[in-house]
Amino acid sequence: MKVAIVASEAAPFAKTGGLADVVGALPKALFRLGHEPLLIMPYYRRIARLNLPLDEAARIEVPIAGQIRHGRVLEGSLPGSDCPVCFLENDAYYDREGLYNENGGDHADNCARFAFLSRGAIEATRMLGFDAHVFHAHDWQSALVAPYLRLLYGSDPIGRAGALLTIHNVAYQGVFPGWDMDTIGIDRRHYNMREFEFWNNVSLLKAGIVYADVVNTVSPSYAREIETPEFGCGMEGVLRDRDAALHGVVNGIDDSVWNPAGDPFIAAAYGPDDLSGKQACRRSLQRQCGLPPRKAPLVGMVTRLAHQKGVDVLAGALPGLFQQTPLQCVILGDGDNGVRAALEQLAARFTDRLKVFFGYDERLAHRIIAGADMYLMPSRFEPCGLTQLYALKYGAVPVVRRTGGLKDTVCDCTAETLASGNATGFAFDEATPGALAACVTRAVELQRDVRAWTRLMLNGMSQDWSWEASARRYLDLYAEARRSRGAA
Ligand code: ADP
Repeated sequence: MKVAIVASEAAPFAKTGGLADVVGALPKALFRLGHEPLLIMPYYRRIARLNLPLDEAARIEVPIAGQIRHGRVLEGSLPGSDCPVCFLENDAYYDREGLYNENGGDHADNCARFAFLSRGAIEATRMLGFDAHVFHAHDWQSALVAPYLRLLYGSDPIGRAGALLTIHNVAYQGVFPGWDMDTIGIDRRHYNMREFEFWNNVSLLKAGIVYADVVNTVSPSYAREIETPEFGCGMEGVLRDRDAALHGVVNGIDDSVWNPAGDPFIAAAYGPDDLSGKQACRRSLQRQCGLPPRKAPLVGMVTRLAHQKGVDVLAGALPGLFQQTPLQCVILGDGDNGVRAALEQLAARFTDRLKVFFGYDERLAHRIIAGADMYLMPSRFEPCGLTQLYALKYGAVPVVRRTGGLKDTVCDCTAETLASGNATGFAFDEATPGALAACVTRAVELQRDVRAWTRLMLNGMSQDWSWEASARRYLDLYAEARRSRGAA
């Protein structure tokens, strides 16, 4: 299967969240399974700085706002693989600091920048002679691929390709003023409630959902949740209309990046057969954080500081937990919102119990997940969540809110689930400090029983979250997208 995967970020080139992890890993998994994926993404300034060995493979011309914009297609491969990647170079759009925003504000021309990506990707496949069977778009940034294929390339052979749209987070909808119909170059008669219009604006995500042959999100639970007003962020009606074509595929883990047996960032290697390295990682993390080397339960969290992630819920729970349990806590948070000040105050008050790092730090993320006994995710909603999967693999028992992908990937520990070998973590329902504290306390109590705790850790560590299984699910969806085009 020839699959053009179009996305705005991919690890390790450019990453702001889980989307990049997925897009960096899925093509490699498809490639290993013998298929022909081609990843297409923008050539951002931060990628140019990597000085990758790239070849100019083609030039493209993309109409944006009625003017022809030029771009170069630079070809390379994903690190550790021969899987090809094409970067679309247009310095006016991409030679900037942030991917989507800078100094706290969104780039004003994001609509044009990502229309260029979506249409440029289709043009790139044409120029390269890559006859994609399927285009796989991700989130609002490349959602226009599907409407472009149908509305602008209908008479071209490429217009017969199937289109799959993956929604990684329905809260981000690519909403722009109505006049941006001219920016993206789609006739204004499509600016209506059934197509591009979303509450008097244009939504690129909505247009993608409407026009894609198949839509999926990153867990079965989240797929159901986003059809409801509580989680749909206004998109629930559009998604319910596509119910028959809406699927859930849980993400996998990129083993070459997240594996405690060969992780260059962590203090010692370990795995389910030998857990001794885990203790070394724990001590090393305590040292790095200036926390006393106690046997106390050490909990970790690595996150964007977004309301979604419930860091405020954790901040509310910590004082009580520090009083009632010997807990130590390490948090790495990126972004800046109200909760940052609350965390700083707590860290100043509980110096030997809490260490907080602000910023984006890949190495520290690995060290926290390897060193922690427990890993916290009190998310208000969670499409899939990757860090709880990493935590499972690294023997950091996840304590999660029962929502979306967290519900699908963590099995709450009870006497029965522990006995049956299914238990992998702890889950709670309400997004409140009380419910989180009660759940952490449950975990702290079980940790006193070394045998039960080890069993729980090993249950999680021995699970298979490799990308192969998820990639096979995607192949099914590609086949379905082609069938709905009458092409398979
Ligand atoms: P989301 O995509 O909503 O941010 P996920 O759990 O799906 O959440 O993926 C988050 C990814 O980003 C993980 O790979 C995680 O390790 C990484 N990450 C998040 N915040 C940070 C941070 N502050 N520093 C380093 N890595 C981070």
